Amino acid sequence: MRRILITGAFGQIGSELAVRLRQIYGQDAVMTTDIRHSSSETAQSGPFRTLDVTDGKAFYHAVKSHQADTIIHLAALLSATAEALPMQAWQLNMGGLLNALEAARELDCRLFTPSSIAAFGMETPRFGTPQDTMQRPATMYGINKVAGELLCDYYFHKYRVDTRGLRFPGLISHAAPPGGGTTDYAVDMYVSAVKTGRFTSYIDKGTFLDLMYMPDAIHAVIKLMEADASRLKHRNAFNVTAMSVDPEGIAASIRRHMPSFELDYGIDPLRQSIADGWPDAIDASAAREEWDFHADYDLDRMTDDMLSNLKEKSTYSETSANLL
Ligand code: NAD
Repeated sequence: MRRILITGAFGQIGSELAVRLRQIYGQDAVMTTDIRHSSSETAQSGPFRTLDVTDGKAFYHAVKSHQADTIIHLAALLSATAEALPMQAWQLNMGGLLNALEAARELDCRLFTPSSIAAFGMETPRFGTPQDTMQRPATMYGINKVAGELLCDYYFHKYRVDTRGLRFPGLISHAAPPGGGTTDYAVDMYVSAVKTGRFTSYIDKGTFLDLMYMPDAIHAVIKLMEADASRLKHRNAFNVTAMSVDPEGIAASIRRHMPSFELDYGIDPLRQSIADGWPDAIDASAAREEWDFHADYDLDRMTDDMLSNLKEKSTYSETSANLL
């Protein structure tokens, strides 16, 4: 990767990925794009262009004018929002991806697109979910992700576009708020713990899902994009994960620092039904074998870092408020 264009760059992943890519490849080499503006560090740290990814011509021109050799395509509607707005989800998730693939084909770019653990389904083995397995998701988001995986494989086999991708689990971060996914409950629990010392979880106890801390996710994207192509048997949609936990497990990890933290439940039927269709714990051995994937953060290490960063932010905002 030398000159990179990121779509949906002001979302949860792009906000941190863009900053890291600029540290590695240089400020001007990384063009951030999004349909909205932002005053974040990501927006300030290098070139930005407004781009609606459903506009194929604009997409092509943005890639061409930046002379990009790599597209990181992150613009999408996430699981819970996609289920509430299925038509918009299809148009953005599939239309945007097709435009990304076409721009990559015409301008000879490498393309990264994330899939998700949502790409499985009720018939998929729930434990040790294999890399290659039954995929019959029942949600619009899951259907978009399976179709996206297949489209990326198609562009590689038919046009030799260098497509690569990861099946992300729920990603946890303190920098940018999550964008309407089902595992957002975990981020919300940390934020709530620091603000109020308690949390009402909309995902039920005993619902185990794969999670990964954002620094590991960022590292995995860069490692896969730099991986030796001759070692990649799968290319798209590698299973990656760092832990499998339920709300009680996160609460127990938080209580190591805050013994009085309280957790109760008010289940959201939409997000619970989405979570019930996802695996409990996926198997990431193909990623380990083909490009040496590893995750540094387990649950307790992630909790330590999340709480320390969130506490620092809340102290900072209290101090700023007192100064006003
Ligand atoms: P996000 O919702 O935080 O950000 C998406 C960004 O896309 C937003 O900044 C939004 O403004 C932008 N966007 C929306 N419509 C657009 C359009 N028409 N044109 C251009 N930009 C548009 O999402 P995220 O969490 O950063 O996820 C990025 C990708 O990773 C998605 O494909 C998502 O499915 C996948 N993923 C994320 C997670 C996770 O936990 N965050 C897990 C699995 C997969």
